[in-house]
Amino acid sequence: MRVGFIGLGAIGAPMAAHLAKQESLTVWNRTGARATEFAALHGAHAAATPRQAATEAEVVITCLPTSREVESLLDGPDGLEAGLERGALFIDCTSGDPGASRRIAQRLARRGVAFVDAPVSGGVSGAEAGTLTVMVGGDEESFARARPVLSAFGKRIEHLGPVGAGHAMKAVNNALLAVNLIAVGEALAALVKAGVLARTAVEVLNASSGRSFVSETLVPERVLTGRWPRTFRLALLDKDVRIARSFLKDAGVEGPVLELAGQLLSQARAELGETADHAEVIRLIERRAGVEIRG
Ligand code: NDP
Repeated sequence: MRVGFIGLGAIGAPMAAHLAKQESLTVWNRTGARATEFAALHGAHAAATPRQAATEAEVVITCLPTSREVESLLDGPDGLEAGLERGALFIDCTSGDPGASRRIAQRLARRGVAFVDAPVSGGVSGAEAGTLTVMVGGDEESFARARPVLSAFGKRIEHLGPVGAGHAMKAVNNALLAVNLIAVGEALAALVKAGVLARTAVEVLNASSGRSFVSETLVPERVLTGRWPRTFRLALLDKDVRIARSFLKDAGVEGPVLELAGQLLSQARAELGETADHAEVIRLIERRAGVEIRG
């Protein structure tokens, strides 16, 4: 099958690498050198424009920071929409916005192109291992067409509802990650300041009911070690919490915890910048508390 892939970022590149093994793949990336290097390494083609990547592709996949970039890459004479052919399937793996996805789906439907939102979870390591969870929104027929393509990098591939449902699910998941990240950081900072050994505190937490992905994986790998790899930008998590906040609002559910987590994350983003990793919010908590959670 001919597949076009747009966005070879931290998670897009390992996802596309799996696709290159099973499909005829054409990639496009804003920084062109990344696309040419990827193509040489994985036996794919590098397109000069988004339009070229979409031309003759049965499936086009986007993995960009936000829905805004997806919408703007559709535009113009060299844009994706100009290359997409009637009958093609557009899969958006961006952690995007449900409302924007509905708009994109309507726009593409007018050209006879089907759309599903299919954001992923599992991080860069999950993408490399091909074990991502994929949260899909769209109609049954489009889901059935997308599934074999998504299985190149996904393990659990779940159809959650109509267009936008995948993005809503993903935003809520990441909002819970954000709340947890901040709460675990605050709790550990206090325990360490009070004289509890950081490693012991984490071990006890992980043998008790307060444990989570943050306490079981992120803290031992990144905080206790003092290694702060950059795999998932804090700016992207901030974007996810914003989407979740407006999703709750639209659903008529009050969300004071998410509101506060969102404000704290936005402050952290302003302080740490656009390239900081999401786990570095704990570094900020450490700095403010005057303590290091190591051990
Ligand atoms: P990165 O910031 O690493 O990469 C972003 C990609 O989008 C790059 O290819 C970049 O191109 C491209 N891009 C950025 N701005 C534009 C633009 N204006 N026009 C065209 N292309 C653009 O992001 P990730 O790969 O980490 O994330 C991609 C999506 O996946 C996000 O929605 C994120 O929330 C989600 N996600 C990420 C996870 C992770 O662990 N990293 C986990 C799960 C979901 P260039 O190379 O030129 O900068």
